[in-house]
Amino acid sequence: VTIDAERCLGHAVCASLVPEVFVIPAEGEGAVVAAPNVDAAAEPAVRRAVIGCPEQAIVVEES
Ligand code: SF4
Repeated sequence: VTIDAERCLGHAVCASLVPEVFVIPAEGEGAVVAAPNVDAAAEPAVRRAVIGCPEQAIVVEES
């Protein structure tokens, strides 16, 4: 899972839905970070975050 930093506006919808995957940095400390590898159990929640992101900034690559 990665975040398109050009799209992300830091709404934190993702982090409120899946805090174990998406981390919002403290103010002024760079962009949202997503855990690169997500285990299968977290996948449905990540998909909800993808849908919930107002900027379509969450990129999920299947392996
Ligand atoms: S919901 Fe989308 S735009 Fe908002 S912080 Fe998360 S990735 Fe960025």
